[in-house]
Amino acid sequence: MIQLKNSAQISAMKEAGRITGEALLLAREHVREGVSTKELDTLIREYIERAGAKPSFLGYAGFPASACISINDEVIHGIPSKNRVLQEGDIVKIDVGAFYKGFHGDSARTIPVGRVSDEAMKLIEVTRNSFFAGVDMLKVGNRLGDVGYAIQSCVEKEGFSVVRRYIGHGVGKELHEQPDVPNYGTAGRGTRLCAGMTLAIEPMVNTGSADVYELADGWTVKTVDKGLSAHYENTVALTSDGVLITTLIDKDF
Ligand code: MG
Ligand code: MG
Repeated sequence: MIQLKNSAQISAMKEAGRITGEALLLAREHVREGVSTKELDTLIREYIERAGAKPSFLGYAGFPASACISINDEVIHGIPSKNRVLQEGDIVKIDVGAFYKGFHGDSARTIPVGRVSDEAMKLIEVTRNSFFAGVDMLKVGNRLGDVGYAIQSCVEKEGFSVVRRYIGHGVGKELHEQPDVPNYGTAGRGTRLCAGMTLAIEPMVNTGSADVYELADGWTVKTVDKGLSAHYENTVALTSDGVLITTLIDKDF
């Protein structure tokens, strides 16, 4: 069942979203060659806890850290480690959730480490653009298929592929709620959008094939063909006044 939120609940989600977004901004400041993914995770956890919130991912289904940090051909769910050290030319995906006053924020960014290839920069940009193409279709009366179709079209016209195995989701009191929010779809199909829906829209985009697999660690997801992958996610609320992006703090990030 889809849990629609009233305006007071959406205000609370705005606060959880702000903390989530700020933790990502802080992490971005520390992304550079020589930094381990564990160091980034610690900064994120400390920031969220100082804000009086809880890291949504810590302990979720047994996940051992506060952020999922995935490098290059890792798609999502990378486990932070002191042995994973960022190198010039990498792209790093940082996915963060914060739980505050009963609600979650969920957001991810892909950040270049120093100078990266033109292809990597384009992938990051197209992934971000595809999120906003999806958000443009987020209107009361439209359908979820309109959102997925817009994301998929934006990605595929640039020659990249949309990961299908993992998708976006409703978010609110629970980190993962109904409905499923695929980053692909058919315009005019799927659940009808209505005011009070709160969604994590999160395109995962590969340079090569869309095929992915999970490592033996039970978490890390990688591309099968070793192509690069990017991720861009925000928590959004659809209201009768339009769309509120709760986790977007710096509109250029
Ligand atoms: Mg996320
Ligand atoms: Mg999510």
